[in-house]
Amino acid sequence: MSVRTLFIGMDGATFTVLDDLTRAANGGEPVMPFLSRVFAEGTRAKLRSTPNPLTPPAWVSLMTGRGPGHHGVYDFIRAEERGDEVYFTLYDSRDCRVETIWSMASRQGKRVCALNFPFTAPPPSELNGFIVPGFIPWRHLRRNSYPDDIYERLKSIPEFDPQELAWDFEREKQSGDELSDEDRESWVRYHLPRERQWFKVAQYIMHEEQPDLMAVLFDGVDKLQHQAWPYVDPNLQHGELSGFHQRMRELSLSYYRQLDGFIEQLVTAAGPNVQVFFASDHGFTASTEVVRINAYLAEKGYVHFRELPEGDAGKRRDNSYFAFLDWNKTIAYCRTPSCNGITIRVARKPGETGIDPKDYDKVRNRLIRDLEDLKDPQTGERIITEIYTREEVFPGSAMGDAPDLQMVLRDFGFVSVRNIQPVVQKRNYVIGTHHPDGVFMAWGPGIEAGKVLGKRHITDVTSTLLYSLGLPVPSDLEGKVPTAMFTAEYQAKHPLKIGEPTRSGDKGDRGETMDDEEKQQLMAQLQMLGYME
Ligand SMILES: [Zn+2]
Repeated sequence: MSVRTLFIGMDGATFTVLDDLTRAANGGEPVMPFLSRVFAEGTRAKLRSTPNPLTPPAWVSLMTGRGPGHHGVYDFIRAEERGDEVYFTLYDSRDCRVETIWSMASRQGKRVCALNFPFTAPPPSELNGFIVPGFIPWRHLRRNSYPDDIYERLKSIPEFDPQELAWDFEREKQSGDELSDEDRESWVRYHLPRERQWFKVAQYIMHEEQPDLMAVLFDGVDKLQHQAWPYVDPNLQHGELSGFHQRMRELSLSYYRQLDGFIEQLVTAAGPNVQVFFASDHGFTASTEVVRINAYLAEKGYVHFRELPEGDAGKRRDNSYFAFLDWNKTIAYCRTPSCNGITIRVARKPGETGIDPKDYDKVRNRLIRDLEDLKDPQTGERIITEIYTREEVFPGSAMGDAPDLQMVLRDFGFVSVRNIQPVVQKRNYVIGTHHPDGVFMAWGPGIEAGKVLGKRHITDVTSTLLYSLGLPVPSDLEGKVPTAMFTAEYQAKHPLKIGEPTRSGDKGDRGETMDDEEKQQLMAQLQMLGYME
């Protein structure tokens, strides 16, 4: 038994940075020498993310081969209006309406291992393999890992520390204000030991169990880039760099150097016959301005803000992830800063607030025109460069949960939902934001060397991994296998098979859900990622 297919996820990885770090600097070693080898000896392509290139919908599409209109995960949080308040629940694996690759491969006799993927908790009730989920508080790890005894076994790894492994939800809540230099430095520093933990777990399971499909997600790339983008974007390393800038760049490079070493060790441990695939859920770029979308919709009469309470309660409300709106008067609004979408409130029965269903098309068309009209007063350029209806980008049985309109901002930033003027404001410093184009690479026997393919789609990854495992690709997947990635000999020996459609996912129910305090801590973490302003 040996690992046949190794998948390495790198949340938010982008060629802008990876190309820079795989080039030899000043005649010396590149920061990522192993990845540099992968580029030279393997195949690469840009990977187009989901319409909202956000971590939750994008990873779920990558793991299922289906768009959000089918899988139903659109955001970190599902918000519901009830009376005067907005209630929210966090999406988890049970919200995913379609089968994951872990289940597809497992029910066809392959052993799988998925480490640190979001929305894999709670784990399915039956699986041929292992899941240690990402994106949950460390206290929930034991009950959300599969099988039952895996958590106890991991404790035998020297230096295993679940508090370091899981996302630290207990960090001090940051205010909505900009972070200090010290905050940003400790944020970057914090991800170095955390990734080491996931590496150790991956190494342990590979060594002990040799699953057919071994998958591990390193999410520090995304976390680091949100706060350290000015120090890693090769386009921003010119002129006189401050001491702090140089220190942050060195610290960030040490993160990538460490990651490259982890990747090399995992690939080596998998043996000479392994095919290795790398992908990110979205790319990264610089966000230079804040766009306060609800403040704009208020100017146009769609949104009506409520008055903030006095004192601390008001401050908390103002810093909240959700807009504080008057539901009697608001007809269209943006729910969360991470959704980059507009929800139109439609009355389901007479007497309910919201618009009359028969006015839906009229209101939505007017809204689109108003969003197109938001322009840079200096250049006349549109601030919102693309506006899609949900029928266009989220077709499928889960379309009803999607925002009515999906937007793309000119700098690819995420909107702000706060009630502050002006509507569009230049940021005091550049922050990292998600670019729709991530990365996709393959390396190993049977993979073409030194080849660059045209852009692929995030849903292609599941099909590709199934093909590498020698399994048929289910007929209802949207993603296609990029056959040009594989050599002609390999394709001749392994003809692509299209198989039975996917089954409905196996929804486990062993995990525990987060309590209110943990939810609040998660919100604070989302602020750290720059989803507030
Ligand atoms: Zn991401």
